Amino acid sequence: MNQRVIPLADERLLRQLPKIPRELTAPTGRLLDSRGRPLRDLRISVTDRCNFRCVYCMPKAVFDKDYAFLPRESLLSFEEITRVARLFAAHGVSKIRLTGGEPLLRRNLEQLIAQLAAIPGIEVTLTTNGVLLPKKAAALKAAGLKRVTVSLDSLDDTVFRAMNDMDVPVADVLKGIDAATAAGLGPIKINMVVKRGLNDHEILPLARHFRGSGHILRFIEFMDVGSSNGWRMDDVVPSAEVVRRIHAEFPLEPVDPNYTGEVAERWRYQDGGGEIGVISSVTQAFCSTCTRARLSTEGRLYTCLFAQSGHDLRTLLRSGHSDAELSAAIGQVWQGRGDRYSEIRTAETAALRKIEMSYIGG
Ligand code: SAM
Repeated sequence: MNQRVIPLADERLLRQLPKIPRELTAPTGRLLDSRGRPLRDLRISVTDRCNFRCVYCMPKAVFDKDYAFLPRESLLSFEEITRVARLFAAHGVSKIRLTGGEPLLRRNLEQLIAQLAAIPGIEVTLTTNGVLLPKKAAALKAAGLKRVTVSLDSLDDTVFRAMNDMDVPVADVLKGIDAATAAGLGPIKINMVVKRGLNDHEILPLARHFRGSGHILRFIEFMDVGSSNGWRMDDVVPSAEVVRRIHAEFPLEPVDPNYTGEVAERWRYQDGGGEIGVISSVTQAFCSTCTRARLSTEGRLYTCLFAQSGHDLRTLLRSGHSDAELSAAIGQVWQGRGDRYSEIRTAETAALRKIEMSYIGG
């Protein structure tokens, strides 16, 4: 096959084999990293494939027909994912978010959801572009999925089709949101990534559309994830500006966080039209309260969204280690975690070769 060699493939080879500690201490559920941050959330990427080619995430120029997506056998099986999730739960994880790529492209995802939802103390959520929700929302809910977050970057059909670069109409996503609402997967969060000059003129139309709907619209600063999106600081619309623009039309007031470490800063319409959130990963880094670990499609554990390499759990999973050994290895990785990328971001770090979002999971 004529497969183009591109740097992303090399990047994926950067992996470290976690060490099995000599002493296997039992998990306490109160694991802390080197900066005192607990482990609470696990994001699991179930596929590196997507039915969109969003220009800022999986640009067609890189993710084209010659792109070498992961072969089936390198993906973690549902049993492997569930086993890892159980070990993470024992270390203190209470929330699992399935992502990708587009997670709804993974066949029989409901089965995985049912397996994960059966782990005591675990809540399962999912982030999707929404297009497959009309087909799948009811089955996902029945399997035990709690909520969905739907990504939607514009309501303007022309802008939206150009941004997903697959000519998918915005109406398909709106139908997905309706299907998720009808299935009881709410309150639904709608995530809009804002990139200056591309879709920032859509901030107000989205705010108008979702005001009073019961859905929570959240604005995410465009981030320097991966190495293929050509990120520049000038492209970032700071959350403070987003709030200012909305406040000028619909007065807002701040709301207390639901819990310590909540990623989105909450605001509500003063007239009772509901709430919005802003996620300021660039202008107001929240590394100091980050409790998230990420498991890639092929079983690498990443302790930061901006990581350059991951810890190869799949090799351990497939070489006959016991749960106690795996658990201790995971514990040791977390205890050694010192990541705080967003706090130390500079133009130089932004240019570093990092793991793509579609691979590590958004
Ligand atoms: N396919 C699913 C979806 O569309 O939501 C899940 C995966 S996608 C990578 C998860 C989220 O990451 C989406 O909301 C997407 O907009 C966001 N995202 C991708 N690249 C980003 C970037 N450079 N900065 C901020 N958010 C980004």
